[in-house]
Amino acid sequence: MIRTTDKYNLHTHSFYCRHGHGSIKEYSDEARRLGLEMLGFTEHMPLPDRRFAKTRMLNEEMDQYLDDIETERKDGGLLILSGFECDYIPEFRSYFASYLEEGKVDYLINGVHFFKRKGEYVSPFDDVMERDDVYTYRDVLLSALDTGLFSFQAHPDLIFASYREWDDVSESVSREIIQFAIDRKIPLEVNGNGMLRPSPDDDYLYPRRMFWRLASEMGAYCVRNSDSHEVVNLGKTRELQESFVKECNVKKAYPIVKRGRLEFEF
Ligand SMILES: [Zn+2]
Ligand SMILES: [Zn+2]
Repeated sequence: MIRTTDKYNLHTHSFYCRHGHGSIKEYSDEARRLGLEMLGFTEHMPLPDRRFAKTRMLNEEMDQYLDDIETERKDGGLLILSGFECDYIPEFRSYFASYLEEGKVDYLINGVHFFKRKGEYVSPFDDVMERDDVYTYRDVLLSALDTGLFSFQAHPDLIFASYREWDDVSESVSREIIQFAIDRKIPLEVNGNGMLRPSPDDDYLYPRRMFWRLASEMGAYCVRNSDSHEVVNLGKTRELQESFVKECNVKKAYPIVKRGRLEFEF
């Protein structure tokens, strides 16, 4: 099926991730109610060694998750896509790739939620980020995008949720991420979930305006999503996302499904 639309949400979590609520059916019903035309599920992908298991579905639940999506697809009308949001780890490259190669999912997205500082995992959600962390975040993010496995980069500016000051490090790392995405034709995500989180200043926790003004100036394309972890949030930030995209003057990419894979038109 080939179809492109602006009425989509391509970053959606459910109860499966253990820090979200709502079933695949409840989300699909809500998407129909909101008049969406394309809904993509991107549950956090569990890793073979069960790393980050506290906030991931069990590996044994993956088939059930995909079955639930398959069941909802049969309803027609709303186009439903299956996917995972991945914390890319190089040693598991073939594991991630197998889901695409075997046609088990329509797409994968990359999200950098954890990376190592002196051998221990830290997260922009829980830890105060320092200059070196910003560089590590960049390296992890770019090495993931370099694999070509990911359809878009989720919350590319997540590091600046914690590293708040906008300095030479923020600027140069942002430029590198944005340029890489432009060169590889990978959309960057304006993330609605960060708009709902408490912020220490008058910017959103994320997306960060300085990042997106730069993205606009450099000519990047965005995809905008709710990243909802509750059914009620599926449509909640849609208007905020739209006005943010307009305010920052970022070009939009439009999703399209070709040969059973999620792609974008620019
Ligand atoms: Zn989550
Ligand atoms: Zn995420």
